[in-house]
Amino acid sequence: MAHLGQTVVLSGWVHSRRDLGGLIFVDIRDREGRAQTVFDPSTLSSELFQQAGSLRSECVVSVTGKVRERPPGTNNSKIPTGEIEVAASGMEVLNMAEVLPFPIDDPEVAKSVHEELRLRHRYLDLRRPEMARNLRLRGKVAMATRGYFDEQGFLDVETPTLFKSTPEGAREFVVPSRLHAGKFYALPQSPQQFKQILMVGGVEKYFQLARCYRDEDLRADRQPEFTQIDLEMSFIEREDIYTLIEGLLRRVWKTALDMDIAAPFRRISFEEALNRYGIDKPDTRFGMELADLTEAFRASAFKVFSGAVAGGGVIKAINARGLAGATQGQIETMTEYARSFGAKGLAFIKVEKGEWKSPIVKFFNDAEKAALRETLKIQEGDLILFAADQWLNACEILGKIRVYCADLLRSQGVFNIPSNRFDFLWVVDFPLLPFDKEQSRWYSSHHPFTAPVAEDVGLLLTDPRKVRGQHYDIVVNGMELGGGSIRIHQPEVQKLVFEKVLEISPEMVQARFGYMLEAFRYGAPPHGGIALGFDRLIAILCGAPSIRDVIAFPKTAKGTDLMTDSPASIDAKQLRDLHLELKAAKKE
Ligand code: ASP
Repeated sequence: MAHLGQTVVLSGWVHSRRDLGGLIFVDIRDREGRAQTVFDPSTLSSELFQQAGSLRSECVVSVTGKVRERPPGTNNSKIPTGEIEVAASGMEVLNMAEVLPFPIDDPEVAKSVHEELRLRHRYLDLRRPEMARNLRLRGKVAMATRGYFDEQGFLDVETPTLFKSTPEGAREFVVPSRLHAGKFYALPQSPQQFKQILMVGGVEKYFQLARCYRDEDLRADRQPEFTQIDLEMSFIEREDIYTLIEGLLRRVWKTALDMDIAAPFRRISFEEALNRYGIDKPDTRFGMELADLTEAFRASAFKVFSGAVAGGGVIKAINARGLAGATQGQIETMTEYARSFGAKGLAFIKVEKGEWKSPIVKFFNDAEKAALRETLKIQEGDLILFAADQWLNACEILGKIRVYCADLLRSQGVFNIPSNRFDFLWVVDFPLLPFDKEQSRWYSSHHPFTAPVAEDVGLLLTDPRKVRGQHYDIVVNGMELGGGSIRIHQPEVQKLVFEKVLEISPEMVQARFGYMLEAFRYGAPPHGGIALGFDRLIAILCGAPSIRDVIAFPKTAKGTDLMTDSPASIDAKQLRDLHLELKAAKKE
């Protein structure tokens, strides 16, 4: 409205064209929004009027005209420029556009466009206002993050992308070296080792929006390359990281959503998270907590339960209130979850018409039924689900089923979680070393650089299971936003963890981590850090269903870039230069 009466030039894309009552209305769109222009044949040359009539969606134009109020009754309250229009007096067509592979002016239609088509023509997809908003928000949050760390005295330091293979987590991407025949760089899974070395290098406070690479089979919503807010600090303890990250997330939520989030965040131990929610990244926006019924069924006539307890296991259950009407298919899905953890099946009770419907209830005595009724506060319409297994397995089975049931109940409208509710929490006191039964060895729950809790160091060789790690995860609404730890900074403790606990051979330790152990011998300060998944963070802030919607040029689930057609073959000379020979040459 501020521009009423002014002559303006609108440069942008033709969002839409409507021919109505002898007039032509062309909406011009740029990154900031759109405005309506009107071509009136009574005031324009017929040539210009015809040209306006030939415009197609997404032509690039520059329209000159006077801003005026729209005639009464024609306002569009949906857009900020809905009260004005520009009466065109001139136009330059800067570029024509062919018929589009998919329409981009209607968010509803765009939603149903196949994602592969959107990715192939990403430049069109990015013009959609929804995508433009996501990228803008990403940029703003990146700047806020940089500003925050700058204020806190952090240095933004870039670390190499060409690193070396140190497989200890995910599979790595490797890059053949031309100058060193038969040798390879690897792309870093994270700047972990470099950021620790920066601490030895006296940087004290490092941060980076770091690109990381993991060659994983792309389950669910992962990308082979992704961005982390990565940081490391010297002379600190866990509390310092909690305060720092709470401050960062408060800044980010304020910047992106104008929301004040409360800090300090709740903290929950790994054990309590598993016991109550069956997962180490619990969604605490709803209850449906796991109950323990081990004692009630220790001597049960139902052998599946008493047998599990006798074998050192536990009996756990959840009450999915209101889900007694679950379909056969839904119960089958839940049973599959249980089976995927090695369980034989899934015991359940449906409470319908005052009756407990279940093939197992006949085995329960009155005391067992009373214990169930009381512990789970059983009512009409409930669905009770059980897990009888070793502790971790039993928890994880129900943890998965709990989330599934919550999704079902939400989709049925039985309960509702406001979209602006964010439950942040720190998960702490992870075991340093879970045991891998199949390989019969200990492995790091985080990574091998995580320090044990000081008073547990003595247990490293005698009772590794009991050693707690100084590891922490930051979780929001059941999603892991990031994780980190206080690191080992004493070379002898690090060596002991590599060689004696993780049983990596001394030669291998030397080849992969020798330089780190050496660096630690020249005065390594105590240090620790954390990394937050930046793409996931932005997706949460945008309410985007997938991280692909907040990355300008993402890969598909198969790891391909459909626009540039990558990965692609390289020619014979390039292969020769890299000292490579392809075993199975691809037939073109
Ligand atoms: N490098 C770790 C990761 O990428 C994070 C950290 O320990 O700081 O998960």
